[in-house]
Amino acid sequence: MKIFHFNADLIENISLFKKEEKTVGFVPTMGSLHQGHLSLIRLAMKNCDIVVCSIFVNPTQFNDPGDFNSYPKHEEKDIALLKSEGCEIVFIPKVSEVYPDGLVHNDFPLKQLGNVLEGAFRPGHFNGVIQVVKRLFEIVSPDKAYFGIKDFQQLAVIRWMVEYYKIPIEIIGGSIIRDKSGLALSSRNERLSNDEKESALKLSKSLFYIEENYKNETFSVLRTNVLSELKKDPAIEVEYLEMANSKDLAILNSIDEALSVGVFIAAKIGDVRLIDNIILF
Ligand code: AMP
Repeated sequence: MKIFHFNADLIENISLFKKEEKTVGFVPTMGSLHQGHLSLIRLAMKNCDIVVCSIFVNPTQFNDPGDFNSYPKHEEKDIALLKSEGCEIVFIPKVSEVYPDGLVHNDFPLKQLGNVLEGAFRPGHFNGVIQVVKRLFEIVSPDKAYFGIKDFQQLAVIRWMVEYYKIPIEIIGGSIIRDKSGLALSSRNERLSNDEKESALKLSKSLFYIEENYKNETFSVLRTNVLSELKKDPAIEVEYLEMANSKDLAILNSIDEALSVGVFIAAKIGDVRLIDNIILF
């Protein structure tokens, strides 16, 4: 496995594979890798000749400086995990490689996709995500790029970006990986105490409860039931629990069988912010 820190070295190496017409798959991450990330690496390895994984904690997508400063970092362990998976290339750039002109913040015309759910609670977040992914795409120039459905809205935003800028990269979504108890894996989970983990579990339980009952009960009733249950736990501060059209993330108040519909939740458990979702149909 090769590790690169500089754009020029990575570009030179990838161009050798491109000359041989090898398919390059790309998995961008912020490190502190877990089975969710590794599932994307495995998916990429299945249908690409060469897999590049980047590890870069992108400063422009953090609207909360506390979240950025406390974001977990485990570079050596990440490298060992990628090596054991058989990933060919790891790219670990410095901020100055990704942003040679400094940390400018760009605005992208995302419209409602950028204003709902995460967009409403994390102003500027998706501008930062687009900025970094667009830049990493320019550097890595993959054929295919892999993103987790765990960050459903992010995946939708990336799909919007490649369409809007006519970027010839195929975007592939990978399923949400959960632990045995149902908790969606997240790098932020390691910041939870044991008690907070118990609280965090109630987020996925709420989604599963809605999935089990939406055919017999209105979403509004289910939402009220979930929110009143979650309110009983003082460690949980729900930011949103919404049902939305999974195509454009327009918020829905009732089930529309003509659409594909998902339920999306974000909550702070202590000072750790977690998101999760479930696609009902
Ligand atoms: P991150 O390092 O959090 O930026 O995540 C890098 C990629 O891994 C993103 O495309 C995420 O959506 C994906 N990812 C994170 N957690 C999971 C999970 N539990 N299951 C599947 N994919 C995930």
